[in-house]
Amino acid sequence: MTITAAVDRWNPSPVIITTAAEIIRAGGLVAFPTETVYGLGADALNPEAVSRIFTAKGRPQDNPLILHVHSIAQASNLTVMNGTARKLAETFWPGPLTLVLPAKETVPSATRGGLDTAAVRMPDNPTALALIQASDTAIAAPSANLSGRPSPTDSETVLHDMAGRIDMILDGGSTGVGIESTVIDLTDPERPLMLRPGGMPREIIEAELGLTLEVPDSVSKKRSPGTRYRHYAPSVPVKIWRRGGGLLPENCAYMGMNIPGNADMSRAIIFTSAENYAHGLFAGFRKLEAENVSCIAVEWPEDSSGISEGLRDRISRAAGK
Ligand code: AMP
Ligand code: MG
Repeated sequence: MTITAAVDRWNPSPVIITTAAEIIRAGGLVAFPTETVYGLGADALNPEAVSRIFTAKGRPQDNPLILHVHSIAQASNLTVMNGTARKLAETFWPGPLTLVLPAKETVPSATRGGLDTAAVRMPDNPTALALIQASDTAIAAPSANLSGRPSPTDSETVLHDMAGRIDMILDGGSTGVGIESTVIDLTDPERPLMLRPGGMPREIIEAELGLTLEVPDSVSKKRSPGTRYRHYAPSVPVKIWRRGGGLLPENCAYMGMNIPGNADMSRAIIFTSAENYAHGLFAGFRKLEAENVSCIAVEWPEDSSGISEGLRDRISRAAGK
């Protein structure tokens, strides 16, 4: 049975947080809101609890999990934080930036997907932070959806995918950013790598680093197994529409910032900015597929800065590119 408990995201009830933390301490699974998407949490230091995450999601075992922490001090108990990592954490945490660093022995192999590195992040959501603190451990949490499906940005979607598979859902309303964190590899601080674009824009990180984030080559790609899998996909085909690229394919529903000439407005979701698009992308996929449309056309966001790089990544994966 899966219990859902509503919380005030900014000021969650201590009784509910204690209940959720007891579930985590006992090796159970609790979904919780972060500023990016809903996470499916378990005690990151308990290999059996971690293996339940993989089972509940149907996630490939070699795809490592992000460890969610409540402080930089906690992250430095789990990973070897070089000066660059510390500087980025001090500037951007809590926030949608995940750092991949050499793992300490405290992190079980199951959490790391067998790698010698671990990914750490401090989420910018008071409910998430209260849960991590009360659990007195790091919380491993991928997105709280069945593997391959669009990530959940509200508790109803978590329940849709996870009912009967997890112990508890903390319902803190709809998430802000809407796509997952940016993941960078800092194992070599002289050569930081962009493993996954996301909620924290590249140019802001690069300005802080004074370095360009490189794209992983084929060797370092092996170090980020998650990037190999198809992801974020609704159950109907996703097609990409470019502004100035003519009409939409026949009979497609539409999501984007501009309105194509032949869009059927009864099956269109129009966003006011790239941030608004990111916030609504996954929920839009879920809404339109539930309306049994035969395909979803999505606008390719062209901006070179801000959240558009993360959006393009999610869109091209959803389209199976
Ligand atoms: P998810 O939690 O499903 O949104 O995905 C977490 C992302 O972080 C995936 O792309 C993982 O491959 C990546 N990740 C987690 N841990 C590591 C690690 N130790 N090294 C490289 N990538 C990682
Ligand atoms: Mg995910």
